[in-house]
Amino acid sequence: SATPATLSAISRAAKRGMVFKGGQSIDNVQSLNAIIFDKTGTLTIGKPTVTDAFFMEGVDQNTVKKVVKAAEYGSTHPIASALVDYLEDTELIELNTIQDITGKGFQVTHNGDIWKIGKHEFVITEDTISLEDEIGKIATQKENEGSTVIFVSKNKILTGYFALEDKLKKDSKDAIEQLNNMNIETIMVTGDNENTAQHIADLVGIKTVYANRMPDEKSSILDEIKQKYGNVGMVGDGINDAPALAKADIGFAMGSGTDIAMETADVVLIQDDLKQIPFAVLLSKKMKRIIM
Ligand code: ADP
Ligand code: MG
Repeated sequence: SATPATLSAISRAAKRGMVFKGGQSIDNVQSLNAIIFDKTGTLTIGKPTVTDAFFMEGVDQNTVKKVVKAAEYGSTHPIASALVDYLEDTELIELNTIQDITGKGFQVTHNGDIWKIGKHEFVITEDTISLEDEIGKIATQKENEGSTVIFVSKNKILTGYFALEDKLKKDSKDAIEQLNNMNIETIMVTGDNENTAQHIADLVGIKTVYANRMPDEKSSILDEIKQKYGNVGMVGDGINDAPALAKADIGFAMGSGTDIAMETADVVLIQDDLKQIPFAVLLSKKMKRIIM
């Protein structure tokens, strides 16, 4: 059973908006050697908006917009919500087939044409265009500035792209800085592309980045990081973070996240404030001294 020191630490944490589900996890926070952060919805607010759209010359823009809206309409992904909001005035049509390809985008058919909508690794093949082309350079530049670029192709020919921006949470940078100063290794894992991920990591001070990862890879990356560093924490908000949250020595879920993330984690950050994590480390260290 929990000691008075543990109970007092749990209640102090709760007053700060951090719910520990058991005494064991608050005891263990001080022993974390590394903490893995999901990007979207954890370090960033997780509500991207479309900042601009680009269409190749000679392309029927309205058809592109209609196909994209129809593809994204049924999805709950934050990127889908952003695109549907942006295409508010576009007619909602029915497509022949829709394939939701997790971690990549959509492949749909419409009037006998095959469309792909998603990340460049998925949409851009040798037949579409190369990233060395003018449009590829513009898109890469946008990614380097932190945007996520969603490309659209029709029968393997590029038709255009939509650039989306997600804002950092106001406490992300401070939280990471405090953890770095405590010599806890901070690591980012994301499905987003390398350029965008690196830009966000630089902004907050994370040095190790695993980008372009499929949702089901998060838990095997955790194993890898555990081998290297020892005790590992995981911070996330999504359904796809749940397996890693469960497997981590301590899983932290964002209060704004999905139910499954909150159910699986050991700690819930009710106010979504990442600075609670370094605070918990200090609290846990202090508690250890009281007990010993
Ligand atoms: P994250 O780790 O940022 O939550 P996901 O694994 O959900 O990323 O998605 C990875 C990438 O797949 C996105 O950055 C985007 O390029 C592409 N993608 C995901 N969902 C969609 C969608 N609904 N429409 C278009 N592209 C998508
Ligand atoms: Mg997320």
